[in-house]
Amino acid sequence: MTSLITSRARHVAVIGLGAAGLVAVRELRREGHTVIGFEREKHVGGLWVYTDRVEPDSLSVDPDRTIVHSSVYQSLRTNLPRECMGYSDFPFVTRSGEGDPRRYPDHREVLMYLQDFAKEFKIEEMIRFDTEVLCVEPTPENNRNWSVQFKSSSGVSGEEIFDAVVVCNGHFTEPRLAHIPGIESWPGKQIHSHNYRIPDLFKDQVVIVIGSQASGNDISKDIATIAKEVHISSKAVASDSYGCYDNLRIHPTIYRAREDGSVVFRNGKVVFADAIVHCTGYKYHFPFLKNNGYVTVEDNRVGPLYKHVFPPAFAPGISFIGLPFMGLQFFMFEIQSKWVASVLSGRVKLPTEDKMMEEAIAFYTKLEDLGIPKRYTHFLTDPRGNPMLGTFKPEDAVVISQSDYFNWIAKQCRCTYIERWRERLYNVAIKKIFFGGDSYRDQWDDDQFIEEVYGEFAKLKSNQDCSS
Ligand code: FAD
Repeated sequence: MTSLITSRARHVAVIGLGAAGLVAVRELRREGHTVIGFEREKHVGGLWVYTDRVEPDSLSVDPDRTIVHSSVYQSLRTNLPRECMGYSDFPFVTRSGEGDPRRYPDHREVLMYLQDFAKEFKIEEMIRFDTEVLCVEPTPENNRNWSVQFKSSSGVSGEEIFDAVVVCNGHFTEPRLAHIPGIESWPGKQIHSHNYRIPDLFKDQVVIVIGSQASGNDISKDIATIAKEVHISSKAVASDSYGCYDNLRIHPTIYRAREDGSVVFRNGKVVFADAIVHCTGYKYHFPFLKNNGYVTVEDNRVGPLYKHVFPPAFAPGISFIGLPFMGLQFFMFEIQSKWVASVLSGRVKLPTEDKMMEEAIAFYTKLEDLGIPKRYTHFLTDPRGNPMLGTFKPEDAVVISQSDYFNWIAKQCRCTYIERWRERLYNVAIKKIFFGGDSYRDQWDDDQFIEEVYGEFAKLKSNQDCSS
């Protein structure tokens, strides 16, 4: 492993060891920093560590509930081809003779990939497992140092001072719920997708699934294999239509729920349902940033942040990896981590606090002018390639194109831009999600292109072998 010994090696805490935290630890160490990773669970992998356990409160609204981190359901397969999902120098390729060789593999395969990454770069030696970070705050005597207070599952607590904190706690654990008039007195069962694992609970029932994005789509089909009827409530449709199964119907949004167990959709259709599954997304949540004056979460906007990473007033002492959602997540975690690591070492400079704040405000103003709600602030994908964003105009790409964002960061920290093949593969994959039908994960006709991609992986490997 290459390690740059810099004149400004920092002592850095990384909170959370999912896909974001793992690569953050690696990049920080490569830049010469000393790193301690805090992980609440017993393993690396975050979201991809599947568990049968769910939270006792099926809507996860009780703030004092015991948190189950993962939101992965048993049947989950990736929604992107593995080749574009991996980190830039550690391709997510088929493992010889074991695991799931499919291009859209199951969740176990992603976890194995992350475990392999941790092993390859000896990351576990820098992690304190079973240790939850409870509080992060600037030290009173010196606004530029950070106190991290933590507690292990055995009850041992402590505090340590760091030069910087990198927040990688994920944002798919704290459910967001749709407001449905009358729901308080609706008698059926309700769960959020965070607590969905298998369809068995819904055998022979009439189920309403709210939301038609990735999880809503998967979960409704999963449940349709066993339920009497599944009714999807989707923002994307104006009138009702049949889905790909005989017992699955798609409706517009819900108008209201009633005491007699019925649910009325906006087109006037009425369904008597046994259960509602809320696939309505998640909220950013940083319970350990107590009484802080540096970042707030407002309608799911974490701000103010410079380029989704640094709060201007406290940069670079605290930074956030992985806030933008949709798109090439692992690649983004890597490039953001390189930026944070190089800024902390002083190799790359940030603008002044005022300039960063000006930029953040200009960005928010632009979103507002375009009529984009705050909750889409971190929606990072290219509208030119994403039909779901049909209401956004192509010129908006300047605000939210993921490749522009990655390449802007790459330029700052003088690292490699997003590969053309990765960009191309992603753009095809995202269209397949929307137009590729039910079997989009198993049908493709790009063998020649994939051969080229594997050729790139082979070149990468031979370069790595030469330089080691
Ligand atoms: P996480 O994986 O959530 O990791 C955060 C870690 O922080 C956890 O290990 C947690 O235990 C730890 N933690 C949290 N709080 C504390 C604390 N206070 N103290 C200590 N530790 C703490 N992306 C794709 O690229 N492809 C896909 O196919 C795909 N499918 C998805 C399917 C679902 C259902 C969901 C919800 C997301 C999917 N994603 C997918 C996006 C996914 O979020 C990212 O791929 C990525 O794994 C998120 O990594 P992360 O490190 O940001 O967060």
